[in-house]
Amino acid sequence: MNKADSFFTSLKDLYAYLELPPADIKVSNSSFSFLVSRHFASKIQKGDLNDPLLHEILPREEENLAVEGFSDDPVGDLESEKEPGILQKYEGRALIEPTPACSLHCRFCFRRGENLRVNTKFVEELEAWLAGSPEIHELILSGGDPLMLSQKAFNSLVQIALQQEPLRTIRIHTRLPISLPSRILKNGKDSHFEALQKIAQTKKLVFVSHVDHPNELDESSKKVFAELKEIGATLLNQTTLLKGVNDSPATLVELSFALFNQGVLPYYLHQLDHATGVAHFEVPDTEALEMMEKVRNALPGYLVPRFVREITGEKSKHPLL
Ligand code: SF4
Repeated sequence: MNKADSFFTSLKDLYAYLELPPADIKVSNSSFSFLVSRHFASKIQKGDLNDPLLHEILPREEENLAVEGFSDDPVGDLESEKEPGILQKYEGRALIEPTPACSLHCRFCFRRGENLRVNTKFVEELEAWLAGSPEIHELILSGGDPLMLSQKAFNSLVQIALQQEPLRTIRIHTRLPISLPSRILKNGKDSHFEALQKIAQTKKLVFVSHVDHPNELDESSKKVFAELKEIGATLLNQTTLLKGVNDSPATLVELSFALFNQGVLPYYLHQLDHATGVAHFEVPDTEALEMMEKVRNALPGYLVPRFVREITGEKSKHPLL
């Protein structure tokens, strides 16, 4: 894949594309680089500095502020690491980080401080670890974005996972349906569709998209979800509550209906994890809870995401409502 064809890696180029004056924004000096897929950028309103999708990916100078309580390992990933890139926090489930690559760099990401490594021996190490961990019944592919792996790397990961008898479920956490759908679509370029189909034929495939705002959904995401539904995947979504992006009951309600319209059920609404450089995205708990009351009243129960926070050391996500 030619990177320039699919991504913006320079803010200057993004500003030019969005018809924004470059001098208007002071940017962060974070080592977490700027990156956004052209597909995601195409959904940002041109000329609008306050567009919620732009806010998600713009490295603003607020990231430079050191804020008390915000750290590089906000949810205890380091403590939970069993092997490099293999984490176990919850009973029977393991989360793996097979790649540091993403299709966009979300400025609020709690893994932004982690230096995920590219580990060429990852698949072998995973196979050995799984063989010694028969209690693991669900494997969660996270990252980075697991669907950013090459077809070859993803296929070998899937092959190993499918051979593990105790594994019943493979869950995938990804933003690709809204940022690089071609990697999932049946006839897309370098698509993982066949591998996903293989998973769904052998185990339970749970596909968890990460969509934060209704404007992220479009005809391509609709097609992705329809094709995944056809192969029998369970479709869920997780959202992060973000100031300036989705911090209004109307937006959250619209998001739930829009997801449902594309065949996806809202699963979690995450209160922001306190990673270094993300404090400007935080919605205080009191405000968030008031908002969630309104969201709950406006939606049927099956469209209300569980409002949760991850707390280091707890055995499950902590419900806030
Ligand atoms: S891991 Fe997910 S939330 Fe974090 S930058 Fe990548 S795509 Fe965004």
